[in-house]
Amino acid sequence: MTQTNEYTKPLPLITGLSKIFWDGCKENKLLYQECKDCGEVIFFPKMFCTNCMSQNLGWKESKGKGKIHTFTVTYDMAPPEFMPHVPYALAIIALDEGFRFMSNIVECDFDKISCDMPVEVVFERATDEITLPKFRPTNGN
Ligand SMILES: [Zn+2]
Repeated sequence: MTQTNEYTKPLPLITGLSKIFWDGCKENKLLYQECKDCGEVIFFPKMFCTNCMSQNLGWKESKGKGKIHTFTVTYDMAPPEFMPHVPYALAIIALDEGFRFMSNIVECDFDKISCDMPVEVVFERATDEITLPKFRPTNGN
C-alpha cells in the first residue's frame, strides 16, 4: 500500500444520479440542477422538478459562495469515526444560487462562526472517487 493518508470517516454513497455531482466535485466544481421549464433551483440531485414535476432539468455550476444558514460545533460525543476529528463544525450553507448544502466549516476559529457569515467552497479530496466540498469564511478570518 502506497496510500499514506487513508480516509477513515464514512463517505457518501454514489448513486446513478448523484454521480454527476460527485464527478463535478472531483473537478472542483459544485454542481446543482435547474429546471429548464420553471427555473426552480434543485439540490440534492433529482429526476424531476420539485416545483412543476418537469423532467427537463439541466446542470449548472455554482460559484460556491453563500452564507451560513445555521451551524453546530461538535466538541464531544461524536460518532466513533468522527471522534478523532473533534472539534468540528457542521453547517447548512445557503448558496447564492438559491440552494442549501450541508457541510463542514473549515479553516477558521470555531468561536467566530456565526449565522449569515459569508463562506466559499473549498474542495478536499478524500479518496479517488470522492472529493468533499467544504466551506471556509470568505474573508479568511
Ligand atoms: Zn420546474
